Amino acid sequence: MARDPRYDILFEPVQIGPVTARNRFYQVPHCNGMGRSFPSSMAEMRRTKAEGGWAVICTEEVEIHPSGDHSPWAGGRLWNDDDIPVLAKMCDGIHEFGSLAGAEINHAGQMAANRYSRDVPLAPSHLPVAAHDPVQARAMDLSDIRALRKWHRDAALRAKKAGFDIVYVYAGHQLSTMSHFLSPYRNRRSDEYGGSLENRARLLREVLADTKDAVGDTCGVALRFAVDELMGDLGFTSTGEGRDLIEMLAEEPDLWDVNISAWENDSATSRFKQSGFQDDYVAFVKEVTTKPVVGVGRYTSPDAMVSLIKKGRLDMIGAARPSIADPFLPKKIEEGRIEDIRECIGCNICVSGDNHFVPIRCTQNPTMGEEWRRGWHPERIAPKTADESVLIVGAGPAGLEAARALGQRGYRVTLADKASEAGGRVAQERRLPGLAEWGRVVDYRTYQIGQMANVDLFLESDLTSDMLDDFDADHIAIATGSKWTADGIGRQNPLGLDIADGATVLTPDDIMSGVKPDGHVVLFDDDHFYMGGAIAEKLRRDGCEVTLVTPASEVSSWTHNTLDQHAIQKQLLDLGVRVVTAHNLSAIRSGAVDLACVYTDAIQTIDCAATVLVTMRAPVDDLWQPQPDLIRIGDALGPSTIAAAVYSGHLYARELGQPDKGNVPFQRELINLTAT
Ligand code: ADP
Ligand code: SF4
Repeated sequence: MARDPRYDILFEPVQIGPVTARNRFYQVPHCNGMGRSFPSSMAEMRRTKAEGGWAVICTEEVEIHPSGDHSPWAGGRLWNDDDIPVLAKMCDGIHEFGSLAGAEINHAGQMAANRYSRDVPLAPSHLPVAAHDPVQARAMDLSDIRALRKWHRDAALRAKKAGFDIVYVYAGHQLSTMSHFLSPYRNRRSDEYGGSLENRARLLREVLADTKDAVGDTCGVALRFAVDELMGDLGFTSTGEGRDLIEMLAEEPDLWDVNISAWENDSATSRFKQSGFQDDYVAFVKEVTTKPVVGVGRYTSPDAMVSLIKKGRLDMIGAARPSIADPFLPKKIEEGRIEDIRECIGCNICVSGDNHFVPIRCTQNPTMGEEWRRGWHPERIAPKTADESVLIVGAGPAGLEAARALGQRGYRVTLADKASEAGGRVAQERRLPGLAEWGRVVDYRTYQIGQMANVDLFLESDLTSDMLDDFDADHIAIATGSKWTADGIGRQNPLGLDIADGATVLTPDDIMSGVKPDGHVVLFDDDHFYMGGAIAEKLRRDGCEVTLVTPASEVSSWTHNTLDQHAIQKQLLDLGVRVVTAHNLSAIRSGAVDLACVYTDAIQTIDCAATVLVTMRAPVDDLWQPQPDLIRIGDALGPSTIAAAVYSGHLYARELGQPDKGNVPFQRELINLTAT
């Protein structure tokens, strides 16, 4: 198919100093949990994006010196020349497809506790490090400042040697020493590097000049800057010093990469922010510079992208998450296949990989992070190995993805679900407050399988064990999901709860299917991801008085890994949900519950009309029995995240008919026992 001429503007080249980007699609720096720990995986992931049409592909943060050591986070490293080959491999892959490679070199200063190097952290003024380590950063003297400039210059030269086309000066996300010097609340200096904005920007200006001097002959020099810290007068604002800084340095870099900070604001989840949420903050930047401007906002719609360019808001469409969910997004627009774009759902599961120091994963794109490890390509898959048919029972994320990928391989697929709409748990969860965008998991897949003549989807088809044989399928996958349980068994109460006769005990499934308790509801969250908070929010919005009880010290504590814990707890408190932390639910009576302090076991009793237990899920696997060619996938095998269900469906589809790879079914990055 040909490209829609309306999108031609997105494929215009953009000059970035001495280098030219072949189009306007720009993968801004993003973490991936692979970095220097899993370098082949990282390099192949970036290479795949170049193949998918991104004109610029950047690293994540690349440390420049042991005094800015972000361990155990596995970003890039350019401490000395020994680090060059890893990043050179990434550059080579990107160059294969005519794209530009960008290096976000950085000194993390007070953000880094230097857990590996054990150096004393550095900052503009004495301050505790940002992590809660019992460690303080010391105020830099003028010789430290000179040293930092040299480290940055040396790292820029190494980046050039590795093959990078764009080298960053980083002052975004409150994550770099340059941004700490800029900060009115972190910089309390009285010398020429403190006080006025001119003084606080001195180090940034110097490092920018050093970098241009060192590598500017062949590399574009990008400046990444957060125009607004969303802290009001305490920090930068886009109408105050954020604007002043850009006016001050307007023509100095070859490209402005602008956003808002901190990271949880820049990468806000769809639960709290819609696509384009940064537009109003960065809109002014193009008014004050002639240099190309990149901005982000979880853009997946080519129409929105064109509008941003035409309105003069941005020159290049920046993307981290949209490029993770669909590494081939630009190519699909170029080839006139916009219906095939696998749109990011804004869930931030991708961030959780980085936070756990393991390779990135993505709810929408099960191949993310698996490009090298398993040799999975996001668009290509091996054709079927035999002319066979597959029956998949259950059209949730696991069943839908298995059907889509098996259909792509050419198998004859029957997908059956007893519900009247496809999507399984997502069909329900997309109706919870803020989670509508998660429906894209279903919409992308139902559209794709709708295009395949070899895949049939049957709804309202409640299958029993006896019926399975009637299909005469060569293979059967049971993707019948899971159900939340009502006995209280979970992390905190492994033997379950004492539940009195007459007590009203509900589960998230009950609430999502329309049960509406009256009066005061106690919700016990022993799950700690989004579900407890989301159900509490729904109940509150539906008019219930709600108390959320959790053994953790915060609401939805695992959502720190998806960057929205703070927003979730704030939302619940703003809505008037009462929160009781550090308490277990020890008994459910008729009309009341007993709560026990997790430290002292002290009991308090509170009256309630109903209790909602968010404790654990039981697989729905009654159709399964151990026999060849009948397997369970997704939540029916092991209840987990939506991302895990999609991955499970994809894994099944990839492996069908393929030889067993044995104990470790993927390539590993083995440790090379060399020292530097
Ligand atoms: P997963 O996350 O693993 O994809 P879900 O719970 O989202 O699992 O989806 C499971 C789907 O299986 C639901 O849509 C449910 O209606 C369907 N299902 C469960 N049991 C049967 C059955 N016996 N026959 C047909 N469909 C079923
Ligand atoms: Fe988007 Fe979620 Fe994938 Fe991250 S994990 S890229 S937020 S769909």
